[in-house]
Amino acid sequence: MELTPMQQQYMEIKEAHPKEILFFRLGDFYEMFFKDAEIVSKELGLTLTSRSGDVAKNPMCGIPYHAVDNYLGKLVTKGYRVAIAEQIGDPKAKGLTKREVVKVVTPGTILEESVLKSAQNNYIALVYEQESQLVLAGADISTGECFYCIYKGADRQQGLYDELYRIMMPELLVLGELSCRQDLEEFVSLRMASCLFTDIEVPVKNVQELLVQHFDVNNRPAEPLAEVAVATLLGYLHDTVRTDLTHLSQLTRLDYSENLVVDTCTLRNLEITRNLRDGGKKDTLLDVLDFTHTAMGTRLLKKWLEYPLMNIGKINQRLDSVEELAGDFLMRQQLQAACKSIYDFERLLTRIEVGSANARDLAALRTSFMALPGIHAALTGAKSRLLQKCREGIHLYEDFVDLLQRAIVDEPGLTIRDGGIIRDGYNEELDQYRLISRDSRQLLQQMEEQEKEKTGIRFLKIGYNKVFGYYIEVRNSGADKVPPHYVRKQTLANAERYITEELKEFETKILGAQEKIVSIEYNLFVEIRDAIKEKLGDIQATAREIARLDVLTGLAEAAASYNYVRPRLANNGQLDIKDGRHPLVERILQRDLFVPNDTRLNHDECEIMLITGPNMAGKSTYMRQTALLVLMAQIGSFIPAREAVIAPVDRIFTRIGASDDLVSGQSTFMVEMNEVAQILKYATSDSLVILDEIGRGTSTFDGMSIARAVIEHIREKVHAKTLFATHYHELTDLEDDKIRNFCIAVKEKGRDITFLRRIIAGAADKSYGIHVARLAGLPKAVTGRAEKILATLEKGAAAPQMAEAAPDVRAVRDMGAGSAENVKPAKTVKPVKPVKESADMGSLFASSLS
Ligand code: ADP
Repeated sequence: MELTPMQQQYMEIKEAHPKEILFFRLGDFYEMFFKDAEIVSKELGLTLTSRSGDVAKNPMCGIPYHAVDNYLGKLVTKGYRVAIAEQIGDPKAKGLTKREVVKVVTPGTILEESVLKSAQNNYIALVYEQESQLVLAGADISTGECFYCIYKGADRQQGLYDELYRIMMPELLVLGELSCRQDLEEFVSLRMASCLFTDIEVPVKNVQELLVQHFDVNNRPAEPLAEVAVATLLGYLHDTVRTDLTHLSQLTRLDYSENLVVDTCTLRNLEITRNLRDGGKKDTLLDVLDFTHTAMGTRLLKKWLEYPLMNIGKINQRLDSVEELAGDFLMRQQLQAACKSIYDFERLLTRIEVGSANARDLAALRTSFMALPGIHAALTGAKSRLLQKCREGIHLYEDFVDLLQRAIVDEPGLTIRDGGIIRDGYNEELDQYRLISRDSRQLLQQMEEQEKEKTGIRFLKIGYNKVFGYYIEVRNSGADKVPPHYVRKQTLANAERYITEELKEFETKILGAQEKIVSIEYNLFVEIRDAIKEKLGDIQATAREIARLDVLTGLAEAAASYNYVRPRLANNGQLDIKDGRHPLVERILQRDLFVPNDTRLNHDECEIMLITGPNMAGKSTYMRQTALLVLMAQIGSFIPAREAVIAPVDRIFTRIGASDDLVSGQSTFMVEMNEVAQILKYATSDSLVILDEIGRGTSTFDGMSIARAVIEHIREKVHAKTLFATHYHELTDLEDDKIRNFCIAVKEKGRDITFLRRIIAGAADKSYGIHVARLAGLPKAVTGRAEKILATLEKGAAAPQMAEAAPDVRAVRDMGAGSAENVKPAKTVKPVKPVKESADMGSLFASSLS
């Protein structure tokens, strides 16, 4: 088949972009052809057409250019790459219009506002391996962040995965061969709903050039493999986004020796930034603590939670500021008021950098800049170091405020090529053309009146249309009065349209003025945008300080509104929390219903708390609470407790509850054992370990033996501070000078039980499984029969497993604030109507407490 020149052009461009969907600009449309058209029509529900009339053979579909962002966003979110070929040069010129791909849009490089979520970064990452070292290079071009991290040693792969899970990038590049390639793909597909994998065969050639272009001397990677990874990522970004990306000018080396490691497992189990239900923010620690008012603040708080600190000095710096702000209502209020009117600086700046900013963005920047003096004023008397630093780091940009005030109208339109952006009085030339444009209209009206008078035609008017421009329209009734210098242009059913020399002159003037106005406005806009671009780095730095200030103020607000206290950080290996509360459960239950508990772990008296007790008593709430409080303290937040001394931990390990990893093809037991293996391998005496019911997925004896061996190993070798919940009562005989038994106090009255939610020293007596089963709505016949079987077992040979029956509430050794009898007893739980599923039990108990 003979191809037309345009088809030829399409084929050539498409050949260079086999992996992308090609949006081919044709006039007012982007057209897709062949396979691309089929994909787009399927994904976006567009109708396929064909020029040849044969849809099956030559399918195509199109989208109007002005709606492209929306369609583009949808396709890219679904994991496609899209290449945009624009018409270059004058489309009215003779011959074939030149077309070129101006950018490629991918999930990790998209800048469409509709796709980016303000509370989340949008990262793209690259993984590279060399000599048993893994390097991860990452960037968020929407905010200008750039980082890398090197992983060595036996747990390098895990370290990499943990990082990937934290950044949750929608696009991952793999450079060269990777020994863990398949494993990585499995991890990503399991943990990240949709992530686009792209292979890059060889590194970029101009490694040094790219690094020099972006980062100054002190800000470049030191390690050759990191250089290659970072530069290749930059090369890829240049290739895709096709602008100079000068806003990627700060490179951070992530180094975890300074951070508390929160691995994927813990991040998930403790629902720190994403809930297990749907991966959303609701009911997470982030949700509870998020009192930020800027998008940058929200993103930073998430990072703080994912990378808590270990250095006591640094933690205290944050705590000092939170304390100062928590105690100063007025300062907090002023700062919040200012932050509320600050837009997403980081992303505004990116749009300025890549040239996609419109006048509304500049107006938003103006509003944001105008809020800065308020921050300065609020922080004037600030005493804590970090707040002072924020004040110093936030520059005021008064000249930009002045410029933007004078130049940009209050509410500019969305497009920058239709005028209506620049204020009157800002530019003399512009003002003059505006005057002409306004005056001319008036003159035209006068002219109409004059012509009527001169010709004596009653039905005469001056009008305008796109084809003929300005014209004088005369109804047929006045045809005989039309003067000879009127030149006929168009005939209508009951009128004729004419032009005159004089009218033509006006036309040139008016249209010329209008055109001039639009072009002057555009040029002025670009001039201002570029002036701001000059200061990009400086404004970015201000944005970072605003984010930090916003987070600190937010933490102070959380502290003040939830009645949190400042934890004392100490280097003494202690974990001593008095009356700690679970930050989420207490919010759901309302504070006075939540029963606070102490936690006391140290290397002298109690390294391992062995917690036994009935299901639904509150064991896992208690253990999670302990981990969450330690983590909160290490990000510099106040915590829900009466008082606390906390020695920073190096890592929090969690093995909690049923995993949803069945999709990965591993059995629950296998997953559980994997997690335990990780813990035993990497935990240190500075770690906090939470183990909830290990050994469940196998036979009793197997499970119990494993559980016992694990405790023994931690006791002898690891010395990590450990909370271990188990239903194997047999394990309670492990109690010694390091391992202590604890249980949740329960009050029994006849067949009714009440969970007092108070953790007390000593082993639990019974598991109360039948009580819980009854509450859950098991038929009476079944629970009745179970009771009989239990009685037989207790009397028979199997009985040794059961500890002795004990009084209602045991308080062998009380942990602190009063014995269990002193605890205000919650209302007795009565057997109630059946609930749908066990997940509802928490709320069932919660409501039964009210
Ligand atoms: P377990 O791990 O022992 O099976 P959970 O920790 O899941 O029990 O707790 C069950 C429910 O008990 C929780 O959903 C919560 O509503 C309630 N609960 C737990 N701890 C407390 C507490 N300290 N104060 C009040 N209610 C609590």
